[in-house]
Amino acid sequence: MASENTRPDITPEISLAPETASDSAVRFLRAMIFAGELGPGDKLPPERDLGARLGISRMTLRLALKALESTGYIVTTRGSRGGSRVTDSESLAQCWNQWMRQHADELDDIFEYRTTVETRLASLAAERRTDEDMRAMERALAAERRPQDWASLFRTDIDIHRSIARAARSPRLEQAMLAARGELFVPVDLDRLQDSEHQVHDTHAAILEAIRDQDPSGAAEQMRRHIDLIRELTDKALALAGIHPSRVGAPRASGAASLRSRGRPE
Ligand SMILES: [Zn+2]
Repeated sequence: MASENTRPDITPEISLAPETASDSAVRFLRAMIFAGELGPGDKLPPERDLGARLGISRMTLRLALKALESTGYIVTTRGSRGGSRVTDSESLAQCWNQWMRQHADELDDIFEYRTTVETRLASLAAERRTDEDMRAMERALAAERRPQDWASLFRTDIDIHRSIARAARSPRLEQAMLAARGELFVPVDLDRLQDSEHQVHDTHAAILEAIRDQDPSGAAEQMRRHIDLIRELTDKALALAGIHPSRVGAPRASGAASLRSRGRPE
């Protein structure tokens, strides 16, 4: 991990020019996909509901959907049975690569945020969990043990982290966790990262064990180890995709070039 003084100077996306409503809708929907709330192949909610949920007009929503379609996140079909769906997992992995090419130098910052938020959630869960919370966490963990595909692994992971956050009873920290995950989903590519799902599962189990024992510092420590493992897997996935965070600052051009080679406009 980069030391303090080698970290890139990152300016958060706050500026005087406010984000347009359609930009924030894009960000929101992409976060839902990255966080696993919408998985590969999932149908998006009807435009009417989605627009209402985001507080934007149908016209604005359509702009956002067009942007997501042109960057490959969703596929839209016309006609009476048409609508928008999240793309398949292979294309989504390409979206992830593209996203990471542009944001890899923010990885340290994103992981630092995630570690801070989630270790705190784990220790609060250890302090506050009820027996019912424990059962919910164990159900989520048991689901992960069943053999499953890439898309559902995505969802079982978010379910486990959500159940921990619920037990912590800190709605704002829970929101912060979801926001951090919205910037970065884990590429659980089973063919390329064989056996990593067992490692991930074991670290989840260790977090739950500390929460069951009502051991706040143990729970925080196990959560830290889990997120360190995710970081390791992320770095491996990046290397497999030929993305090297230290070199990413300049080569935006190479990201754009490979994007063009896949025929996707920015
Ligand atoms: Zn996890």
